[in-house]
Amino acid sequence: MAAIQDRKKRGISRSFTPAKKGAEFTKEMKDTHTIIIPQLSPIHIHLMKEALVAEGYKVKVLETTDRSDIECGLKHINNDACFPAIVAVGQLLNYVMSPECDTERVAVLISQTAGGCRATNYIGWLKNALNRAGLSHIPVLSFNLHGMEAHEGFKVTMPMVRRMVMGILYGDLLMRMLYRCRPYEKVKGETEALYNKWADICARNVYNYNWRQFKKDVYDIVEEFDNIPMNETRKPRVGIVGEILIKFHPDANNKAVEVIEREGGEAVVPDFMDFVLYSAYDDIYRSKYMAGSKIRKYVARYIIWMIERKRNIMRKALRKSKHFDAMPDIFELAHLAEKIVSLGNQSGEGWLLTAEMVELIEGGVGNILCVQPFACLPNHVTGKGVMKALRVAYDNVNIAAVDYDPGASEVNQLNRIKLLMSVAQKNLAITRKEI
Ligand code: SF4
Repeated sequence: MAAIQDRKKRGISRSFTPAKKGAEFTKEMKDTHTIIIPQLSPIHIHLMKEALVAEGYKVKVLETTDRSDIECGLKHINNDACFPAIVAVGQLLNYVMSPECDTERVAVLISQTAGGCRATNYIGWLKNALNRAGLSHIPVLSFNLHGMEAHEGFKVTMPMVRRMVMGILYGDLLMRMLYRCRPYEKVKGETEALYNKWADICARNVYNYNWRQFKKDVYDIVEEFDNIPMNETRKPRVGIVGEILIKFHPDANNKAVEVIEREGGEAVVPDFMDFVLYSAYDDIYRSKYMAGSKIRKYVARYIIWMIERKRNIMRKALRKSKHFDAMPDIFELAHLAEKIVSLGNQSGEGWLLTAEMVELIEGGVGNILCVQPFACLPNHVTGKGVMKALRVAYDNVNIAAVDYDPGASEVNQLNRIKLLMSVAQKNLAITRKEI
């Protein structure tokens, strides 16, 4: 209100220039242009990009993000932007402004969630920055399921979405295998080698899109990882929850998984697919308690049913294994979150963030690292905001919220994680003594 009143007083009608439509991605550009995608989650994006390749697009994923990308983001985006926006948009801008990029032959792609938070509006920042840099001829594409930012030569089709779903499911399974086995492997590097082998096989099947093959792969993957020779003494397990980009992107969270493993722990990262299902579930809730439409509720129910059916294949294989746990479904997660927050918290990761923490704690993972981006209000509400309630509801939970922002000292983040780990080691020692 203060900002609005101040603008009125000073006669400023608008504080933000809306992004123009931008260059069109024509049908011909499919053959001539490469679509540039920012990093989100290295394990998943390697598989998800096959959905675009299978539709005939040329795709390049920007694998790593470094300081110069973040500096570029800071320079070109509004200072109030949240850290993930600076990382994702900064990475794209830095690449297209670099001499290695042929700007006449690229388009950039970014996702839009169509929700209440800024993830819907990264695209506006990106377009404005490109306009200011004299690069408005670069088409800006959006991956969303709401028909926003339509282009003649780029369409989000059902086969593309189905392949994406398969890619995310494979990614979640491989991530579970990698993080569960790597800290315990007897032969160093064995888990990573097996992961690399399967990452390529799975990518091929996302391209070929064969669910029968998917089922076979799931059982084979679980069996092969289950048979890796491992030390059986359990290490402290540390759950990583938080905003989707910071949670999955190692360069954005300063390699949190690596740090946990180096400090003698096992990282447990909830599935990427939970975010997709959470977004769908929100339509059901909105239709029941808010002004949401009935049609969207039925569509959401169908999407959840379809995805959970495929996840059941993974659950069955995981339950048969010696080492792995199966994932809960989205209705169970919603039920867990409801104990602490309203499911009306639907911006950002919303209630899902709380649900993941409760699920980890009830599943025996008593140590939680909650990664919180700078300027992210929704996740501070359902992340940091519920920690007190969690400590009251569950004994002995060890939770640390670590802030990530462009100026945050890496040493501070590392120290917070080390502190979390030292408490985790102590708790484990006590538990062992009690046993
Ligand atoms: S959830 Fe938070 S960090 Fe992510 S886009 Fe929204 S405001 Fe930004």
